Amino acid sequence: MKALVFHKINDVRVDTVDDPIIEDNRDAIIRVTSTAICGSDLHILDGFVPQMNNMVLGHEFMGIVEEVGSGVGNLKKGDRVVVPFPIACGSCFFCNNKWPTQCENSNKNYGPDGGLMTEKGAALFGYTDLYGGIQGGQAEYVRVPYADFGPRIVPDELTDEQVLFLTDIFPTGWAAADWGRIKGGETVAIFGAGPVGIMAAKSAWIMGAGRVVNIDIQQYRLDMAKKAANSETILWESEDQVVELIRSMTEGRGADVCIDAVGMEADRSLLEKAKAVINFEKGTTKVLETCLRAVRRAGVVSVVGVYGAPYDNFPLGRWFDKGITLMGTQAPVQIYIDHLMNLVQTGKVTLNDIITHTLPLSEAPHGYEIFKKKEDNCVKVVLKP
Ligand code: NAD
Ligand code: ZN
Ligand code: ZN
Repeated sequence: MKALVFHKINDVRVDTVDDPIIEDNRDAIIRVTSTAICGSDLHILDGFVPQMNNMVLGHEFMGIVEEVGSGVGNLKKGDRVVVPFPIACGSCFFCNNKWPTQCENSNKNYGPDGGLMTEKGAALFGYTDLYGGIQGGQAEYVRVPYADFGPRIVPDELTDEQVLFLTDIFPTGWAAADWGRIKGGETVAIFGAGPVGIMAAKSAWIMGAGRVVNIDIQQYRLDMAKKAANSETILWESEDQVVELIRSMTEGRGADVCIDAVGMEADRSLLEKAKAVINFEKGTTKVLETCLRAVRRAGVVSVVGVYGAPYDNFPLGRWFDKGITLMGTQAPVQIYIDHLMNLVQTGKVTLNDIITHTLPLSEAPHGYEIFKKKEDNCVKVVLKP
């Protein structure tokens, strides 16, 4: 089959690779009909989440069930499904406590016994050997482990584009808002107006936020946030300017909730030019630092932007002094997806309005290029294998 394969930093190609096969009785094979490129894929492309071996990328995908293992009772050949990006067993301590992204069983590469990391955490599709070494879904076919726990059948009347983002970015934006404990009326400042930041804005409104502000360095992405999520916007010029603007909007206190939907190095152009996004000396990014400044005392900073191990230093003094609640991890898609599917089906949210590019799988490297470089007003690329 054809698949988008990561070779090395800044080198992804469409190659012919072996078709996936059932390896375990809880596996399913899905024929992929739609798949998207994510900001998280860029961390691999850039080498911030390292990968030594060739790997099929892609963790946002949906398609038609082609084959199921004998242990998968809930799916059959021909079913149309969306697949959550975290791979989880559904029955361990963490899965039973609504933390599928901390699953103890799905990542065979973790663990003290020769594993790559010392603490177990879930495997993700197409997300390096650290995250389980499971081949991803930017491909014609994909093997889905624990297929009796993750995939959800899609109602016939919904198009791929209407539900594709239930795999990751909508539940991720939802998680960011949920961790922000929005009850009604809050001012929510969202750093990043990429796909995740816009989905966080849509989620914050649904939960009852009073004001939603997206902050980004790209005007065209702020325009999209305004159009697709009715957000107020701030074009980032400096940390001080953003903090001052947010304080001036909140009687000097700061936002009730700050969401980091940027992560360690989402902006390649700045990264390549200088150390403007990642403050290497302190080992923390300007965005996370700014969130801690821009949030009010006793507020919440909710982090869905991805951070890797090298950037673990953190402004502890400010966090302690202001009494800030901090939450962040990979989004536990499985615990939200049914509710979010219902929001889509009942017309309470629209997800496909951020798609700017639909390309055949063969043009995936071009999709990566424009998405990474923020060219051609690219917000979200959908690939059609
Ligand atoms: P993206 O690269 O399209 O968007 C990031 C946005 O941040 C861009 O619009 C960029 O211009 C903006 N940005 C860069 N520097 C900035 C700054 N200093 N201030 C404000 N904005 C700035 O990526 P995306 O797909 O929207 O993903 C965003 C982040 O969320 C990534 O780190 C991604 O890995 C992460 N993510 C996490 C999860 C999870 O489960 N936690 C899931 C999906 C994505
Ligand atoms: Zn993603
Ligand atoms: Zn588990």
